Amino acid sequence: SGHAGTSLRLGLLVGDGIGHEIVPDTRRVVDTAVSAVGHDAIAWVELPIGFDAIDSHGTPIPEETLAALQGLDGWVLGPHDSAAYPEQFRGDLTPGGTIRKRFGLFANIRPARAHAGVAATVPDMDLVIVRENTEGFYADRNMHVGSGEFMPTPDVAMAVAVFTRRACERIAHTACRLAGQRRGRVTVVHKTNVLALTTGLFLEAVTDVARGYPGVRVDAEHVDAMAAHLVRRGGDFDVVVTENMFGDILSDLAGELSGSLGTAPSLNASATQAMAQAAHGAAPDIAGRNRANPTAMMLSAAMLLDWLADRRTDPLLARAAERIRRAVADTLAAGVATADLGGLASTAEFTETVGARILRR
Ligand code: ATP
Ligand code: MG
Repeated sequence: SGHAGTSLRLGLLVGDGIGHEIVPDTRRVVDTAVSAVGHDAIAWVELPIGFDAIDSHGTPIPEETLAALQGLDGWVLGPHDSAAYPEQFRGDLTPGGTIRKRFGLFANIRPARAHAGVAATVPDMDLVIVRENTEGFYADRNMHVGSGEFMPTPDVAMAVAVFTRRACERIAHTACRLAGQRRGRVTVVHKTNVLALTTGLFLEAVTDVARGYPGVRVDAEHVDAMAAHLVRRGGDFDVVVTENMFGDILSDLAGELSGSLGTAPSLNASATQAMAQAAHGAAPDIAGRNRANPTAMMLSAAMLLDWLADRRTDPLLARAAERIRRAVADTLAAGVATADLGGLASTAEFTETVGARILRR
């Protein structure tokens, strides 16, 4: 809903640890960019998750928060330190997992891109992993079976994988649309020599869907070969589409090869809703010390603005996203780096530099 240039309502979920630093700083940078391109100001709706929510609502992901998310245009989710929650919450899905499942955010979109000024094993890497996020080999996340793992006897553990043509086609459309906006190439990652039916269905569905995108070329790789290719020639790939577990593993690999955890953004999306989420966690070891790198969170928010620009046909939002991306890239290239990148800049200094560069253009 809404018209180009008109106000957005975005949810802000600060989360735990460094979320208290990088989420408010991301909000500031988004506000600066949106105003710099002449877009109406964003109405932020702050909602509790994590330790704050345990204190105020007795649960890390309150029903009130979930209900409020439904009515908003998009969400910025901070990191959560769910491993540190009190015992009674630790068996549950994390706040992020709960939101993804509740709203059916089936696409986990994880770019891996090297930045000038950040040392990278694969300096020419510029790819996007499109990970199916509801089924596959993580059947516990799945809509069809409650838990994918079970033990028929105390000495035998089994797990179920689920692949449906509908979910495979849905993620294929996401990947093909994205490739159309990039370099027009989709690589399907599978393991059909061993898992012929499951990953075979995935491969077949993507290949079928891609026929409807004349500008998109498709090739395919076995997941084990793909891991080696990423290390040897990760710069050759554009959009990589794969099932849940392969995507989880490959996106950590690609993220690390292209730079650091502090720079890796992600977006979780359905056809109608999207959530920005940095690839890293709450980093409790450096929380509260003005040392966190806000890059990943800021680039995730830029992905959300791009997604909203597309969905609302609002080119000003795409320009705001581009300003954030360029300002962050210029800041890193100028050597303004936080400690995780070997630099001396504080979180506040980094954010200030990004803000100033957004305004300079
Ligand atoms: P999770 O289980 O939530 O993924 P984790 O313990 O695996 O958490 P992170 O919280 O991401 O991982 O932290 C891993 C390491 O990377 C820590 O030493 C942390 O300080 C560092 N780190 C992660 N994100 C950042 C960041 N944005 N800026 C600086 N350092 C970071
Ligand atoms: Mg981790």
